[in-house]
Amino acid sequence: MRKILLITGASAGIGAATARKAARAGYDIALNYHSNIDGAKAVMAEAQSAGARVILCPGDVADPEAIADIFARIDKEFGRLDALVNNAGVVDTVASVTDFTHARLRRMFDINVIGAMLIAKEAVVRMQKQGPEQGQRGAIVNTSSIAARLGSGHTFVDYAASKAAIDTFTKGLSDEVAPDGIRVNAVRPGIIETDIHAKAGAPERVEQITPSIPLRRSGHADEVADAILYLLSDQASYITGTTLDVSGGR
Ligand code: NAP
Repeated sequence: MRKILLITGASAGIGAATARKAARAGYDIALNYHSNIDGAKAVMAEAQSAGARVILCPGDVADPEAIADIFARIDKEFGRLDALVNNAGVVDTVASVTDFTHARLRRMFDINVIGAMLIAKEAVVRMQKQGPEQGQRGAIVNTSSIAARLGSGHTFVDYAASKAAIDTFTKGLSDEVAPDGIRVNAVRPGIIETDIHAKAGAPERVEQITPSIPLRRSGHADEVADAILYLLSDQASYITGTTLDVSGGR
């Protein structure tokens, strides 16, 4: 039986790479995106051609009503949820803490933290109700960042702090739901070649940071997707509450 996987932020970058690989690995997919419908449709077509059933679940994860709509659609179309990749996230323009505004912080934490927590909550509520498959009721992977331990001074401390919240949430939630047979882990990407850097107005960051990466190169979205799919899989059946750095040693 194909497992049902919700991926947030799957219209581009790491989420899109995860959707493509998940389809080939045997998942059916609820594919969330916010504004990039063309990207979402292209990913959907590729996943379908790999044999997956795919439903599009548009919605801003910062909006609780949109989250309710996403899960209503999953309930109606699939009737269960086996896995979640809690991946939607944003950075902002490079700035020091002295330049931060309330509006900037609100957006950052509404999307990266509160949205991710509410999505995980809705997933867990469903996983707890369904019967276990081979002893496992569900698996969740949150997308954090190595910024959580670097702090990102003078670039985006707010983003780093939002990802530190995700690390702590990952550990705390995993403790709460492990007895139910639900595993919760996080990946912490380093510098990965996606559009997120250009969206932050700093496409040059990838090149600038590369010399400080022990492996001397940036990462690819597919390499993060491989780590995510491993943590979701039965090969990771004894792993929960942990964060896995996918950062070339940085
Ligand atoms: P990306 O290429 O910019 O893709 C971001 C995805 O998130 C898009 O599908 C976007 O959807 C979606 N998204 C953004 N805001 C959303 C919202 N409010 N509601 C729903 N979806 C939303 O970025 P990426 O590099 O793949 O990043 C994915 C995750 O990895 C993020 O959590 C990011 O913080 C983390 N990460 C990335 C790096 C890196 O170097 N790339 C490093 C560490 C961590 P639309 O385009 O449809 O709006």
